[in-house]
Amino acid sequence: MDKAALASALGSPSAFGQSQFALVRGNAFEARVKADGGAELLRLVHEKLDRGAEPPADARVPDLSATGPEGRTARTALALREAAGAPGTWTLLDHPMLALDVAGSPAFLEPDAVVVHPDGSWTVVEIKSFPMLDGSADAAKVGAAARQAAVYVLALERVAARLDPAPRVRHRVLLVCPKDFSNLPTASAVDVRKQRAVTDRQLARLTRVEDIADALPEGVCFSPGLPAEELTAAVEAVPATYAPECLSACELAFHCRARSLADGAVTSLGRPVRAELGGLSTVEDVLAAARGEYGDPDDPAVAALRRAARLRTEAMATTGAGTTLAGTAEGARTGAAEGARTGATGVSEVRPGCR
Ligand code: SF4
Repeated sequence: MDKAALASALGSPSAFGQSQFALVRGNAFEARVKADGGAELLRLVHEKLDRGAEPPADARVPDLSATGPEGRTARTALALREAAGAPGTWTLLDHPMLALDVAGSPAFLEPDAVVVHPDGSWTVVEIKSFPMLDGSADAAKVGAAARQAAVYVLALERVAARLDPAPRVRHRVLLVCPKDFSNLPTASAVDVRKQRAVTDRQLARLTRVEDIADALPEGVCFSPGLPAEELTAAVEAVPATYAPECLSACELAFHCRARSLADGAVTSLGRPVRAELGGLSTVEDVLAAARGEYGDPDDPAVAALRRAARLRTEAMATTGAGTTLAGTAEGARTGAAEGARTGATGVSEVRPGCR
């Protein structure tokens, strides 16, 4: 489903994705890299990954246009097969379309480019608009690009496996970025073997979509066209465990955060806090456990909370402050809300609210 449309229909539109300015800048940079039949892009592939091959002059750039994702996927597979039958030449596939089975459903993927080398091997090319300064770029952004490229490598391997002999899909991809703060392209070869292996294992372990669908109540529907009330009930029928990490990964984050805060769920404070609190899942439970009204005293989390509450009471008595723990529930909720708003994940960020 289109989660961005669903989030808007629920009244919590996502602030997810790139700004319009970044998109325009990214598209302009990609067009520059691929200008003149991809001459600069192919030069970078030759320089960084295949210096032993003939320089790429007169590369083939097949037309991949077709109707719909299935049509484009079939057209890409045909172009790759034709390239395999033309050894000794360079071929550039601009925005090919690949299909990958994810939990039993096809996911359509669109790498920026795939290059077929004269030896018949295939390379994934990712073009990003973050700068490469002095030959290195932001490690987090490079990591994200490597994970993305690894998925393309896996999808290409599925296409290659259907050919005889199966072409080699290279596990070093080419990352193309603007050089320093100019818009001149520069590139670096990135080894994605580790990311490929991790993604492959994750894909194999995913619960199949049919099994997830079977667990849903009969007739539940997530169409953004439904009235908001009906849609909210449908979404609530599916369990969700919001954490601040969702803010950078899921279009429904604002909706789930609001529900999580309304329920007083400790996961709004981050996964490390949830892990520390064991079976105590709400702020109310945590405070009740600290007051000795709830929880198993042998549970290490409950014992730690009671000890902290005792120490706090002693400290408050010493300073003459009179606030009781019961009176801090609202403060704790405020702290939780603040922690969730800022994405803070540690207990220390919540303490000012608790006091
Ligand atoms: S819990 Fe997080 S990942 Fe799951 S739907 Fe909500 S925002 Fe998305």
